Amino acid sequence: MANQEDIFKKVVSHAKEYGFIFPSSEIYDGLGAVYDYGQLGTELKNNIKQYWWKAMVQYHENIVGIDSAIFMHPKIWKASGHVDAFNDPLIDNKDSKKRYRADVLIEDHIAKIEDKIKKECDKAHKRFGDAFNREQFVSTNPRVLEHQKQIDEIHEKYAELMNANDLAGLKQLILDLGIVCPISGTRNWTDVRQFNLMFATKMGSVEGENDTLYLRPETAQGIFVNFLNVQKSGRMKIPFGIAQIGKAFRNEIVARQFIFRMREFEQMEMQFFVRPGTELEWFRHWKEERLNWHLALGIPADKYRFHDHEKLAHYANAATDIEFEFPFGFKELEGIHSRTDFDLSRHSEFSGKKLQYFDSELNENYTPYVIETSIGVDRTFLAIFSHALKEETLEDGSTRTLLSLPPVLAPYKAAILPLVKKDGLPERAREIMDSLKYDFMLQYDEKDAIGRRYRRQDAIGTPFCITVDNDTLEGKGVTVRERDSMKQERIPVEKLNTYLHEHIKPIQVN
Ligand code: ATP
Repeated sequence: MANQEDIFKKVVSHAKEYGFIFPSSEIYDGLGAVYDYGQLGTELKNNIKQYWWKAMVQYHENIVGIDSAIFMHPKIWKASGHVDAFNDPLIDNKDSKKRYRADVLIEDHIAKIEDKIKKECDKAHKRFGDAFNREQFVSTNPRVLEHQKQIDEIHEKYAELMNANDLAGLKQLILDLGIVCPISGTRNWTDVRQFNLMFATKMGSVEGENDTLYLRPETAQGIFVNFLNVQKSGRMKIPFGIAQIGKAFRNEIVARQFIFRMREFEQMEMQFFVRPGTELEWFRHWKEERLNWHLALGIPADKYRFHDHEKLAHYANAATDIEFEFPFGFKELEGIHSRTDFDLSRHSEFSGKKLQYFDSELNENYTPYVIETSIGVDRTFLAIFSHALKEETLEDGSTRTLLSLPPVLAPYKAAILPLVKKDGLPERAREIMDSLKYDFMLQYDEKDAIGRRYRRQDAIGTPFCITVDNDTLEGKGVTVRERDSMKQERIPVEKLNTYLHEHIKPIQVN
């Protein structure tokens, strides 16, 4: 089996080769951690966004969506705490001159110990076969217990240092754990420094402190500052949510993981406003609902896990990440945070405008509490794309590259293929295409042998290939080939539209 690094390389090269993702400004040698979506990537990305939007806005009567501007008043970032505290701890290795996030170095170290536990379990599983009881094994095996103890101790120390913002302590922990630079292999580290991740720019010709604008590092603040506008104009009653999809910008310190960590990326965020005191109930609700959204894609449940935060941001009273097993291990895909009344209170304070809600049932005014769900479009793209990409060995010993995307997310829903480029087949194929193209994204392809055309569609995730042959001209339907099973069936032309609708249903989230 290919190792993780090879799989990741294959993901990156496949994404480029087939027009999903290109490095930005490639003819000028690229721009660090910025990527462009190509013709197929754009379709897949739009479909992911639509899946989220439908699940959040269309399927919930009490959630509405907005699209706020990227430029916002500079005071917003003071109020939100980003000017003072949107920092990452940065550390350099003096020999390799490579820059790292101190917290990520420690988390990666912990992940390595977790990996040792997993290996012990796999070994024991092999030895004991069906009789293997994982729970019992991890709670009794001395080696596993020793590893777990190490992890717990590091976690505790790490959380304490992060909470206290103790940069010298972080450096000492990196030294104590013997963490080396993966490039130089040395422990020759600089001190840890804080680095603000916001991009600054200037607006207009007005000089002065207030002319510095920031490219928003999250979309959430555009929702908070519109809380009253939406509540009043939409006559929204608590509990209700405001959703938004949009670009965010962060000057990330380390950006070497393709579209996992970008400097310009897209977020899908929803802020859910609730009565104070009910927020932890709603936090649990959204935790479950968001996990179900992921699982409804059909990716196995063991690819996801929750990671509850030990270090809570200053505004949060509960927080968790949904992590996904990317080709480079389990990493954050989505954050779910109980943000209390922090944001609305701060914006009230900084703007001088009261951001409150009158609850007619309780007959009182209060500042609502907020549960946030925040997920990256690009990370979701990477999760879905990397999971879908497979090399399959077929019965005849040949191999095929398959992108088994959920049909509703696939860039093209079907390919229309005349069996040969003569006898009136292309003309009939185009007629069929014209009758379907208002409902479905389709691709027409008449080049090369049919087998090669099937392979091309497999590689870009097209769920159905519709082949037009001589029998079609005699009114005997078309051959529809399903991507994953490669099964073929004959379908009357007039039933194609219904057939495709039935097989490409929107995903429902329970
Ligand atoms: P990380 O710890 O990985 O830097 P974060 O905790 O800073 O992430 P949040 O601020 O919670 O992330 O942002 C919400 C979501 O936005 C993340 O779960 C992720 O999917 C996405 N996201 C954040 N930063 C980036 C980035 N630089 N590139 C791509 N997606 C990102």
